[in-house]
Amino acid sequence: MIDGHIHIERGDYTLEWIDRFVDKAGKMQVDEIRLLEHCYIFEEFVPMYSSVCAYSEYIDAWFKRSAGKHKMAEYFKLIENVRKQRYPVEIKFGLEICYFREHEKFIEKLTKDKGFDFLLGSVHFVDDFAFDHKPEHWEGIDVDKIYRRYFEESIALAKSKLFDGIGHPDTIKLFGHSPSFSLLNYYKNLAKALADNGMYADQNSGVARRCPKTSSLGMDKKLLQALKKHGVNIITSSDAHCPNDVGDRIFDLGKCVVNA
Ligand SMILES: [Zn+2]
Ligand SMILES: [Zn+2]
Repeated sequence: MIDGHIHIERGDYTLEWIDRFVDKAGKMQVDEIRLLEHCYIFEEFVPMYSSVCAYSEYIDAWFKRSAGKHKMAEYFKLIENVRKQRYPVEIKFGLEICYFREHEKFIEKLTKDKGFDFLLGSVHFVDDFAFDHKPEHWEGIDVDKIYRRYFEESIALAKSKLFDGIGHPDTIKLFGHSPSFSLLNYYKNLAKALADNGMYADQNSGVARRCPKTSSLGMDKKLLQALKKHGVNIITSSDAHCPNDVGDRIFDLGKCVVNA
């Protein structure tokens, strides 16, 4: 099995830290791990977030605590060191990049041909709204409108030619909101755009772990069906932010795909 989405942000860039992810992968019968960082961990990406920080004091404070901890050169050095070692599991390195339509050129400049094994694009903000932080932030939000804009941006992400895969393609559901209209058309258009661009979709257990009461495991069954129908590759992942969560429910995620 593959765990295609693992964050290493809570430790130093050392081989000892990477060993802990490898050890847990072995215990979980995972044979490939794809390690990544949120792009905002790097100083170079900080300017991309000025409008989301201006939109919300909460996000501004969160961003000041979380962002700009490393330079990308430090990450490249770690990747180089890891690639010189031998491990019982395959290790790939990439980035999880927040997608903003208006910053496509900026993203391309920082990520294209830099030696990453994969680039994962994720929608974490919709018209500057950070929808996945706290349920109370949804107060006063037009649910139908935010769903429409979320899928429009997801489809634009898939057409941008910047990424190899899309992260957790329907996390907008995490706090249990649902739109008054059917999402089938969006699912179909997203699946088609991913297929046309040779991209994979991330079947991710992170949100179900965080919000077990309001979110199902992985993608909506109908979205999985649309992806399968269009031949989109689906990769299971934990979205672990610590070694202990590596491989979390990876076999269940795979079963959801097979049974959809
Ligand atoms: Zn994400
Ligand atoms: Zn993630």
